[in-house]
Amino acid sequence: MPIDPTLPYNDENIFAKILRGEIPSNKVYEDDWAFAFEDINPQAEIHTLVIPKGRYVSWDDFSAKASNEEIGGFVRAVGEVARMKGLVEPGFRMMANIGAHGGQEVPHLHVHIFGGEPLGPMICKK
Ligand code: 5GP
Repeated sequence: MPIDPTLPYNDENIFAKILRGEIPSNKVYEDDWAFAFEDINPQAEIHTLVIPKGRYVSWDDFSAKASNEEIGGFVRAVGEVARMKGLVEPGFRMMANIGAHGGQEVPHLHVHIFGGEPLGPMICKK
């Protein structure tokens, strides 16, 4: 069920629990600003999620309220994960779903990194 991105941050969301270590995850990368782990239901050969350590519901929330340091740290972490995974060549896709039309299901900002194979059209029209 897609989330309402205008709701306040809920500390009981699944990614908050992963950040606190209450739920296991397959960790890929961690620094002061971000945590990256493998998606539990991969949609491509490589499907990794990168989340900020701060309490942000979505890209909208993050871009409006996070400090420049948090934003810089998070953006660099996404790039670092893609490099670590060897995705820069031959290329990859990043995606952040926001709210109902975006199909966002977990109310903690996450960037999906897809790669490891040709990814097809940008959007699947139903
Ligand atoms: P969204 O639709 O919110 O953009 O994407 C949520 C993503 O989180 C989905 O790709 C889903 O497979 C993944 N996911 C949901 N719950 C868990 C979990 O407990 N662990 C991991 N590793 N991924 C999860």
